[in-house]
Amino acid sequence: MFTALHSPLQQLKHTHLSQLWVKRDDLIDPYISGNKWRKLKYMLQDAIANNKHHLVTFGGAYSNHLVATASAAARSGLKSTAFVRGEKVNNEMLVLCSLYGMELIFTDRESYKNKNVCYAEYAAKHTGTYFIDEGGASAEAVQGCAEIITELPQDTAHLFCAAGTGTTAAGLWQGIQHAGLKTKLHVIPVLKGGEFIREEMSSYVNTDHTDLILHTDYHFGGYAKTKPDLLAFMKQFIAAQGILIDPVYTAKMFFAIHDLARHNYFEKDEKIIALHTGGLLGIMGMKDKLLP
Ligand SMILES: *Cc1c(COP(=O)(O)O)cnc(C)c1O
Repeated sequence: MFTALHSPLQQLKHTHLSQLWVKRDDLIDPYISGNKWRKLKYMLQDAIANNKHHLVTFGGAYSNHLVATASAAARSGLKSTAFVRGEKVNNEMLVLCSLYGMELIFTDRESYKNKNVCYAEYAAKHTGTYFIDEGGASAEAVQGCAEIITELPQDTAHLFCAAGTGTTAAGLWQGIQHAGLKTKLHVIPVLKGGEFIREEMSSYVNTDHTDLILHTDYHFGGYAKTKPDLLAFMKQFIAAQGILIDPVYTAKMFFAIHDLARHNYFEKDEKIIALHTGGLLGIMGMKDKLLP
């Protein structure tokens, strides 16, 4: 399933920037989307190599990670279970998880905080379980995301990604360092107080470097929060470029790039690449806000 691939690099139209490109990891797969494919790749290999046949993971009710895990498990002949944060709900994402055969265990916020206990109790009652952390955060995920760098042009001046846990960003940074590139990595935390992302990344990579830049002012109020100007930008971007982006992650990243460009942050002909991390099902979580 996780065969070698190169997602396409597509040029964007922009009035000032002549070299703005998108790495279309959203096209890797509709359900194991973008960075979730990169993150799960080595975890699934590890699970299978260790004779584990049952993935157990964690996420919110609108988590792209849950759909990706459910889909990857089904395609690999593995069972899957998710502890879903909060009370029982039904939405587009959970319907897909359920169709892929994922067992959903709705868990109140208090119990959910102690994921290790949830997992230990579950694992004691089931055989062959394999723990996957919320959002897929792991060293294997970092390794999978580092491979993205090998698919990019070496003369990339700026690489952008959105960050939730910072695992993808850690992988990209590791890839840049391993390849000895001069590429600057720009991370857009989608949560408030995004400086914590540097801390998260530092458990995998050395983050003390001026070419690793966090832009912490593009969270629009916090995780899965939006503002009218973000939604207006997103609609305008999709219609103008013909590329879907989502309000939780990639719209905030593209907004940041356009905002920085407006403030003459870049040299005119520098090569800028935005990593499209997928997650388009996230649009469904905001469908009411997006209709005119
Ligand atoms: C999960 C997700 C992210 C966040 O990735 P992290 O590795 O947790 O920082 C970014 N973009 C999209 C579209 C996602 O689904």
